[in-house]
Amino acid sequence: MPSRRVIGIDAGGTKLLGGVVDGELAVHHRVHRFWRGADRRETLDIVAEAVEEVRAAAPGVEAVGFGLPSLVDRETGTSVWSNHLPIENVQFRDLMSERLGLPVYVDNDVNTAVMAEHRHGAARGADHVVMLALGTGIGGGLVFDGRPYRGARGFAGELGHLVVDHEGEECPGACPGRGCLEVLASGTAIGVAAERAAAATPTSTLGRRRAQGGEITGGLVTELAHDGDEQARGVLAEVGRRLGAGLTGIVNALNPEVVVIGGGAVAAGDLLLDCAREVVRERALPPCADAVRIVPARFGEESGMLGAAVLALEGGA
Ligand SMILES: [Zn+2]
Repeated sequence: MPSRRVIGIDAGGTKLLGGVVDGELAVHHRVHRFWRGADRRETLDIVAEAVEEVRAAAPGVEAVGFGLPSLVDRETGTSVWSNHLPIENVQFRDLMSERLGLPVYVDNDVNTAVMAEHRHGAARGADHVVMLALGTGIGGGLVFDGRPYRGARGFAGELGHLVVDHEGEECPGACPGRGCLEVLASGTAIGVAAERAAAATPTSTLGRRRAQGGEITGGLVTELAHDGDEQARGVLAEVGRRLGAGLTGIVNALNPEVVVIGGGAVAAGDLLLDCAREVVRERALPPCADAVRIVPARFGEESGMLGAAVLALEGGA
């Protein structure tokens, strides 16, 4: 009997990643799109076109699951609030199911990602799991007692907006907070910290890159750090320690067995995570620190897409 197939779509803050996925989480066809400043209508058009493209390549899919960088109302499937895409107050589930003629399931993008990691990935076998996805911002997802935890209306898990520095810099986008973890430890924050380091030391590799007008991104920092550049390694260590400060609060509050770190920034691997682990070991309440493993996502940047597929396969989980 052929395996069931669904479409999983991770509509991230910067890009969309989608695929046709089977029950074993094998991906049969992938699709990528970049938003590049698209407005609401264009964004929704791009989403629908991406679904139609993979659907045409692999017919016979049963349903579509979406992970959105939004607070998603569980009852109505509405994207109520979104910090990184112009889809606030969009009745996403109804709109897409009408447009695509398929059953549609919608959740926050890291709520979906943590499901993929819990069911088949880095947190398999654990009952209490926290996931942070470090990308444009920081998303969070929670699994308690083996089940996704979404709070009263579906908005729980916004760990990127955990306040680490109450007098810190304003959080970008629509968050009214200051000094949120996402200001300090996202993929974007790696680029910002490196930009400052480059400005302070014009003769370093990062400094020369900046002088030539090159963009200083988290990806560039990670590449240089893997090549042994000390300044780039220092930037990752600094951001890793900030991440560790945020994780200390999370580990004390929630007593997870596993914290999964995903998103683009996890390409930095142990250069980032070892510093975060060290801070948690030093500062968290010892029994909580002893109980937790901090590990990279198994599915890397594909966690959100695969988790959206899990959501569709499980009929909304
Ligand atoms: Zn915030």
